[in-house]
Amino acid sequence: MLARPVIHAYRAAEPGLCVNGYLVEGESSVVAVDSSLLRSDIEALCARLRALRKPLAAVFVTHAHPDHYNGVHALVAAGDVPVYATRAVAETIARIADAKRAQWGPVYGDEWPAETHVPDLPLHDGEQVTVDEMLLTVFEAEPAESHADSYITMQAGGAEPVAFIGDLAFSGMHPYTADAHSGDWLDELTALEDDLAGIRTLYPGHGAPAGLGLLADQRRYLMHYREVITRLSGGRPSLTAAALDELSATMQAFLPGAPLTWMIGLGATAVAGELAARQAEA
Ligand SMILES: [Zn+2]
Repeated sequence: MLARPVIHAYRAAEPGLCVNGYLVEGESSVVAVDSSLLRSDIEALCARLRALRKPLAAVFVTHAHPDHYNGVHALVAAGDVPVYATRAVAETIARIADAKRAQWGPVYGDEWPAETHVPDLPLHDGEQVTVDEMLLTVFEAEPAESHADSYITMQAGGAEPVAFIGDLAFSGMHPYTADAHSGDWLDELTALEDDLAGIRTLYPGHGAPAGLGLLADQRRYLMHYREVITRLSGGRPSLTAAALDELSATMQAFLPGAPLTWMIGLGATAVAGELAARQAEA
């Protein structure tokens, strides 16, 4: 007999931001953690779920970005499935979903799902949900990679506890920084090293599972990114085209061969603005 639960990951290709939708297979049902961005990937994720031949018992959404929540509507379409998130994550999704669709719908066309399912069961920090003998605990994080982040630990039977960390750390990929919380994100990563001590496997929103060292890796990346932007912007809230090219080359040398290189430039102006505002405050 297989040890339960089994964690399956559907990882999208680069157009779908390599996002991981997790299907956690228990004895008699499945729990989904996050989903996918694009309709083709969401359909593939739903096909993986059907192939498990067990009902979906719950969905958890780690944070307020469409590559994680876009597929929830399709996942729960077949039945009355509870969708959990922290209150801040649920409220932020409700607030930003239309704007995200307006921004990215024209870019992705039919690949952008027509409907959003906002998590309907808000949880407070530390609240626990038991599904199919799997104990899931949701923890609120500071706004870090998005405007509302969280992570989820899971304990089941004699198995080692694991954590689903959403995008609090990317594994071997360039991260999204355009929500301009990189300073708070660094603080959150430091806090997480203590909060997650004792957990040996982290399941990130992008890239392969890894140990706690993933948090330090993400911190080093963000520190380097901020240092380079500080130097190139000269304290201004924007970067020249030449500076953007240099930033991109520098970060690609920092993380050679890593996917999602366009994220480097996508968040540069936001982080330059964040750093300039911090300097003005000081
Ligand atoms: Zn993501």
